[in-house]
Amino acid sequence: MKFDEAAVKAWVAGVLRGIYQPLPKEEIWEWAERTLRIPATENEELAGTLWSSSLTPYVRDLMRWVKRPGKGEFWIMKSSQVGFTMACLIIICWMIVHQPANTLYAINSVTEATRISKTRLKRWIEDNRLLDQVGEGSSDDLSNLTYTLRGMTVYLIGAHSAGAWKNKSIVLCILDELDEHEHLEGTGSTVNEARSRLKRPKNAKLIGFSTPGRMDHIHGLWEKGTQEEVHVPFPCCGHYQPLKWDALVFGTKEFRDLAGDYDREKIRLGAHFKCELCGKPFLDEQKRKAFQACRSVATNDKGNPAMRSLHLWDAYSPFVTFGDLALEWIDAQGDETLKEGFMRNRRGQRYERHGKELKHSDVLALRNPLYARGQLHFEPVLLAQLIDIQGDLQKTVKVAFDEKGDVFLIDWKETAYLEEAVDWAYDPVPGPADSEWIVTCGFIDEGHKMKEVREICLDHTPVFWPVKGRGDSQIQHLIATSEKWVRGDDYILTYHINEAQFKWQLLTLIADHKRRAEKGEMRLHLPHDVDEHDPIIAELCNERPENNPKTKKWEWKKKGPNDFWDCVKYGLALWSVMRPLIQREGATREYQLRPREEAVHH
Ligand SMILES: [Zn+2]
Repeated sequence: MKFDEAAVKAWVAGVLRGIYQPLPKEEIWEWAERTLRIPATENEELAGTLWSSSLTPYVRDLMRWVKRPGKGEFWIMKSSQVGFTMACLIIICWMIVHQPANTLYAINSVTEATRISKTRLKRWIEDNRLLDQVGEGSSDDLSNLTYTLRGMTVYLIGAHSAGAWKNKSIVLCILDELDEHEHLEGTGSTVNEARSRLKRPKNAKLIGFSTPGRMDHIHGLWEKGTQEEVHVPFPCCGHYQPLKWDALVFGTKEFRDLAGDYDREKIRLGAHFKCELCGKPFLDEQKRKAFQACRSVATNDKGNPAMRSLHLWDAYSPFVTFGDLALEWIDAQGDETLKEGFMRNRRGQRYERHGKELKHSDVLALRNPLYARGQLHFEPVLLAQLIDIQGDLQKTVKVAFDEKGDVFLIDWKETAYLEEAVDWAYDPVPGPADSEWIVTCGFIDEGHKMKEVREICLDHTPVFWPVKGRGDSQIQHLIATSEKWVRGDDYILTYHINEAQFKWQLLTLIADHKRRAEKGEMRLHLPHDVDEHDPIIAELCNERPENNPKTKKWEWKKKGPNDFWDCVKYGLALWSVMRPLIQREGATREYQLRPREEAVHH
């Protein structure tokens, strides 16, 4: 083996400094608990206190494994808040002090890699003066993405860049957010690339973790491995049991009121796991203590033993309670986007979408015998109007929502002038028992007439609001707002919606109509007398998602005019703004519904 002078020097420096020498057999997590203080950028409340593994005791196992000699891989299919990124940063700190060896940390983008470097890893290293401990080197040696240290280099890279991987020999490789890593020219994936970089060193270790997502790598890797689960001793009788979603109790009679509806407060406090041995509950408040004695148990006999794999979800997270999880799941029912988010980010499970092509018969199946076009057969909690501008024409749709969130297309038309479309909002819609209803709020697509739309919205405050569809990469939240100047001292709040999310929601509302009816989930309805040649039928079929085989990204293709489709899409977005308000304050006819800033961040 080649004599690595720098590594020896670093080791000698550490030994000479005595106190930084590892205690015999001291584990990484024990060393970290004894010496590492938490930087303010990780957690302001805990800043300056010693890190402890007691919040996330399951990371100890990963740390033990890293320190053990021999090659191996460790794949973690996880939810979003279980603390593995931090665990890996601590492992890198330990390597710097105790076992210098080239380390590479890859995440989905260079921006993200820079952020992890500047606001996280560097803070751990500098706040804890790790470079002083190893004898030489100073903060100047830490450039943004490459740290040249004694005996080792730490690389932080954006995973998709084939160039960034070139000519790097590494001993420890960490792949974070693996399912967001793009296709890599040459080797195809970052996993292949990492494996080829780790071929030679005899203690090479590969750690990969991700919430299951678009590129769908982590699930397959988890499947091939040991498929470990974390077992916890239940406080009732000491029985060791994994926390499984199916064993989370929150839907039984004790959690419902007399009418059979969920009692949210009871669920928040009392959702629990049931002991499979004695039947007693395991409550959230007992979590932290019980977790200290947790252990990993392999469930896949056929798995490759050099490939450990683990599934961990938010029931194990110190930041989420059992009750929060149950309520979030209940709230996600009937909303495909929320459900997908819950499955991936909370349960750490794969969720597949199907890009169905809609047919006229799918749309005609939405016809509801209870009502005719232009009429309301119930008292809506919200009557809204959406306007889409296409060239010199406006297409506009009135939609009504009931408490469950069912969407009823009440009426629609095409107008030659924007004013005409807006004025239509004040034409009453006849409802039950001679009642009359006018639109309480609406969105107008800014399209290519931004200025005109903003002005007309201002003139019709608080009924109409400008809206704009944005791509996934342009908008972080489902919905965001920004204030725009219109004229003089007048500003208006404009809404930016994540288009793809609402397109998916609309697609599933149409495609899954029958299944949703069976399960009592939120549905979309058309009046029974809609003409099958009405342009709205074709327009609701004119958008289709296609999965790009290379990027695994869904791309929406337009087959023809889709303005009514856009209107309904904006209607779903409007509902997601209004729903929290309506649920909180209840809706009466007199109550002026209008979007507010506070209701927006979803
Ligand atoms: Zn028990």
